[in-house]
Amino acid sequence: MAKPAETRTAGRKAAPKAARSTAETEKIRAALAARRDELRGEYDQTLSEITELQRDRLTDSAGDDQADTGTKTFEREQEISLANSILERITQVERALERLDEGSYGWCERCGNPIPVERLAAFPSATLCVSCKQLEERR
Ligand SMILES: [Zn+2]
Repeated sequence: MAKPAETRTAGRKAAPKAARSTAETEKIRAALAARRDELRGEYDQTLSEITELQRDRLTDSAGDDQADTGTKTFEREQEISLANSILERITQVERALERLDEGSYGWCERCGNPIPVERLAAFPSATLCVSCKQLEERR
């Protein structure tokens, strides 16, 4: 099995203080899975918008002037970069799910306390608990 490329968090001082309960792990898993499905829906939506823009460009570009064509190209580029950022977020969530299975997900890297489920659901890539995050930001 390939190791996830997460070793960049070299300063992992705090080891988990306690094991998370199975119920809690399942709650996180469900939240992450829901998030992933939601993102996949968004991604599909964006892809079909791109296809539509592309079709518009091909079908009614005959009567377009330069400015219209420019706008459409711009819109399409916007959609593509949106699609890419959604895809990146999906990857983050999937990596989070892998780490959850390994038991290395959802712990604050600074104090070692578990990061609340709600926070993880909202920010799957969170590596700090709220109070440590606030301390970091204050610096
Ligand atoms: Zn913390």
